[in-house]
Amino acid sequence: MTKGERLYEGKAKILYATDDPDLVIQEFKDDATAFNAKKRGQIAGKGRCNNEISTILFRHLESEGVATHFVRRLSEREMLVKKVEIIPIEVTVRNVAAGGISKRLGIAEGVVFAEPVVEYHLKDDALGDPLINDEHIRVLNLAPPSEVELLRSLALEVNRILSAFFLDRGLRLIDFKLEFGRHRDEILLADEISPDTCRLWDAESGERLDKDRFRRDLGQVEEAYLEVLRRASP
Ligand code: UDP
Repeated sequence: MTKGERLYEGKAKILYATDDPDLVIQEFKDDATAFNAKKRGQIAGKGRCNNEISTILFRHLESEGVATHFVRRLSEREMLVKKVEIIPIEVTVRNVAAGGISKRLGIAEGVVFAEPVVEYHLKDDALGDPLINDEHIRVLNLAPPSEVELLRSLALEVNRILSAFFLDRGLRLIDFKLEFGRHRDEILLADEISPDTCRLWDAESGERLDKDRFRRDLGQVEEAYLEVLRRASP
């Protein structure tokens, strides 16, 4: 697989073209940002960890019938994925209150929701990924209602599968963010699933094993990512 031109560089990943117009290489960086990129840093070994963790989770989701952009892992930091048109809606699922929703609605962190809460955010760094609803999605023409309904049911299915996967490994899936893409006439789960995009708390101690360690200067950031990789590994 030949690595071609750089197509796009985001905060945590770079996309490269390949000799196949249908496939791109997703390279994971060690760069970390938080609070709409106001806080920047590096987490040693993060790129490798997130590539491996995402590989394990995409494979598991595929085995459970969820269509993803994942093709195969190419190297420590590189993953071959299907080229998609990213839908500019970040789909968040929350099982337990933490982070943004705790601040916004005044709910203490750790409060368990009676059912998973699905949120949509506009994927727009300049605007700080604002919270949006179905009506905003409609008037902004981001996706037709049937597609939004599909994203919502896929996100809830991913939540069921990954909550069980992590709980088997002593981790509680508190919340996470997904991105989806259009590929021919299919909707594929895209981007990454890692401690950058999920909150994971140790089921016994409640210790945070995710990006909150970086956001909140809790220390032991690399160790937390490695611990998630160790537990997720077959
Ligand atoms: N999240 C993400 N990217 C974002 C914003 C949030 O991956 O741009 C993830 C975050 O790691 C958490 C979930 O989505 O697992 C919910 O995040 P929240 O809305 O609480 O955002 P925060 O303000 O804490 O970043």
